[in-house]
Amino acid sequence: MSPITHFLASWVGFERFQASQRDKALVVIAGIIPDLDGLGIVVDFATRVLGLPETDYYQSFHRMYGHGLPGAILIAAAAGMFGIRRFWVAIWAFISVHLHLLCDVIGARGTTAEDIWGIYYFAPFTTAYELSWSGQWPLVGWQNTTISIILLSILMIRATASGYSPVGLLSQRADIAFVETLRDRKKQLLSVFDQNK
Ligand SMILES: [Zn+2]
Repeated sequence: MSPITHFLASWVGFERFQASQRDKALVVIAGIIPDLDGLGIVVDFATRVLGLPETDYYQSFHRMYGHGLPGAILIAAAAGMFGIRRFWVAIWAFISVHLHLLCDVIGARGTTAEDIWGIYYFAPFTTAYELSWSGQWPLVGWQNTTISIILLSILMIRATASGYSPVGLLSQRADIAFVETLRDRKKQLLSVFDQNK
């Protein structure tokens, strides 16, 4: 799935179990960071545009380093090091990476039905164990869009109730303004329903 969907899934799924902003940020980042192994796409694009010898880092590295057990352990250990409740941050980061893997297994195929992306769970050490699902839907399919919309809705509903949102990971002041706007919209919406009764 796209990094945005991964972000939403990790926030909605795990933020409430974290005691501090920093721990929330670490667990959410752990849910997106496996896709960093796809950054080779930038290099491949650049070498093509600049007319340099062609590279294929994307195909060689994507889903090789971040998408498996070794990557999950490394990410969890790193998140734990920076966390406040270190042990729990490591555990939740590990789970967050696995939610990412699950999301990719169910919804990350290419344009054709044969273009299924598998996860090599023990890569980069071995590609012997591949996790894949024959029903995998396309990365740009309606299923992923629907899931993203549902997650975003849950995020907004929860933000109006709890008084905070992921915006707070960047700025507390912006978060207060954002939640206030959400609450105003909710009020407006409810008053429209009341008038129509
Ligand atoms: Zn991924």
